[in-house]
Amino acid sequence: MAPGDNSLYANHTPVGVALPAATLMSCCVELFGMLRLNGNLLSIDVGDRSADGVAIDDELSAFIGGRGVATKLAHDRIPFDADPFGPENRVYLSTGPLQTSRMSFTGRMNATTLSPLTDGLLSTNAGGFLSRHFSGVGHPCVEIRGASDELVVVHVRGDEDGDPEVRFEPVPELAGATVKETSAVMEERHGIGGEHLVTIGPGGENQVRYASLMTSNSRAFGRGGVGAVLGSKNVKAISFDGEATLDVSGLDEEAAAAIHRDAATTDHIMKRQGTTGGIDVKNELFSLPTRYFERMDFDEGVEGINGDAVESKKYERGTCSLCAFACKLPTRDEETGIETEGPEYETVFAFGSTLLIDDIVDVMQSNELCDEYGLDTISTGVTIGAYLQAEDRFGDVDLVHELVDRIAHREGVGDLLAEGVDRIHEELGVTNWTSKGLEFPGHDGRVLHGRGLGYATANRGADHMYSKIHNLEYDGEIPQEGLDGKATLVADLEDLKAVNDSAVVCKFSRSFMTEERYETLFGADYDRLLSIGSRVVTLERHFNNRRGFDRADDSLPFTLEGFEEALDEYYDHRGWTREGTVPEEALTVQ
Ligand code: SF4
Repeated sequence: MAPGDNSLYANHTPVGVALPAATLMSCCVELFGMLRLNGNLLSIDVGDRSADGVAIDDELSAFIGGRGVATKLAHDRIPFDADPFGPENRVYLSTGPLQTSRMSFTGRMNATTLSPLTDGLLSTNAGGFLSRHFSGVGHPCVEIRGASDELVVVHVRGDEDGDPEVRFEPVPELAGATVKETSAVMEERHGIGGEHLVTIGPGGENQVRYASLMTSNSRAFGRGGVGAVLGSKNVKAISFDGEATLDVSGLDEEAAAAIHRDAATTDHIMKRQGTTGGIDVKNELFSLPTRYFERMDFDEGVEGINGDAVESKKYERGTCSLCAFACKLPTRDEETGIETEGPEYETVFAFGSTLLIDDIVDVMQSNELCDEYGLDTISTGVTIGAYLQAEDRFGDVDLVHELVDRIAHREGVGDLLAEGVDRIHEELGVTNWTSKGLEFPGHDGRVLHGRGLGYATANRGADHMYSKIHNLEYDGEIPQEGLDGKATLVADLEDLKAVNDSAVVCKFSRSFMTEERYETLFGADYDRLLSIGSRVVTLERHFNNRRGFDRADDSLPFTLEGFEEALDEYYDHRGWTREGTVPEEALTVQ
């Protein structure tokens, strides 16, 4: 079938039909003025194979797009007592207003669901080349609900008028297929390759709790298991394509062009080494977790896995849609033939220093296995680290690669490890290196104290992208030690990152996005933008509260002086209770 050929689209329910008012969200207060995305939610039920359009004007008005809108929809439409693997759970894929621009840092999009790993709300975003194809469907947000009784690929197309067509293709023959194998089959059958797809691998099909949803073959919607949720719905992949144009108003093209120009012309180490450029510095600062967090430096092996080692294997520049910053890392080892995209810093930490592996080619192979199987590299590496500690097998690279395979297929001990560290640490007899059930990333909170606090407060769990306060601690903008004044800073940065995720702007744009540029680009006062981000974070928290999360979950497996006082300060700043819960009255402005 040729792309855009809608004639084969069976089971099509015309969209654009609003649901009864009772099913819509409560009215939101419009805080957002100029930059504005319009359109309907496309809600797809993979159980009864239907599709409906749902008006979401209020949500788009109040939450921009991307993570903000998806959070509001998930909060209101996923039952608070839902089983993450039940048909009542939903997956939201969403874009922001900037995906209609030609600005760098906009080649990303958002996914939101109830996480089977943390049991709380999960928003995650991925780069690659899907965002523009997704926009071509003509809907800012697509919801997947229900569960199919057989493995399917869902094809979503949009025409020039913005009318989508939805088709369900049974694919029992793709059971167990890797991400690339699935892309190849879709390319051959429909002329639609990985750049049009979100795909799960065996990890998602087998409901590994930290299975990623993959796009463009190697880009992951990681952390927290959105791939496993699609697996529970028997959805192998979703393809997006079309000619529709998203309706966006108020985009300041000049501001977008200035940012794009700077991204293209500025010299930056990320253009050569991606996120791996600072590994040596992290090692010197003792913020490179090593040997399953027993140590904080990897002096004896860091040279083999540092940014120079990664760059020595890089064979071309890599990027996401329209991004001139181009920080991605296509790498190849000529001797072994191992080829992958990455590894990024977090994968080097998780499959290198954490496991005492000092050869970048071995890390590249782990990275590629995780991409093929659709597994989050941080959680997979850290969980394997827990097992290696229990078995005293650090540095055994053959075992590591075997374990990745076993986890993806839930074979033998892989079935246990597929549950993640939080659920198995007692059985293994190791420290629980998670917060809210999410495995820790590679910026050590025992050294970077603001980073530690941010791991504890993040609604997604131990998440380095949620506030990114470690950047200020690395750069010396704030001290690494102590928590004085950091509670409010963590909260404000969380809010800002929620704005980024809603727009959707890649967080690697930090040095290009001044306050003034935020205001010009969005046509809104900076504080007003932060207040939108704050409402996103508060909605996530409220959802999690209703699932039983409270202060006790904002915890760390290590102590920080002044931590409890900082938590109080953080809650006070947000207007939450000292128990870490959102007062119901705070929701009247949500
Ligand atoms: S900065 Fe890097 S990750 Fe972000 S959009 Fe550009 S290429 Fe993608």
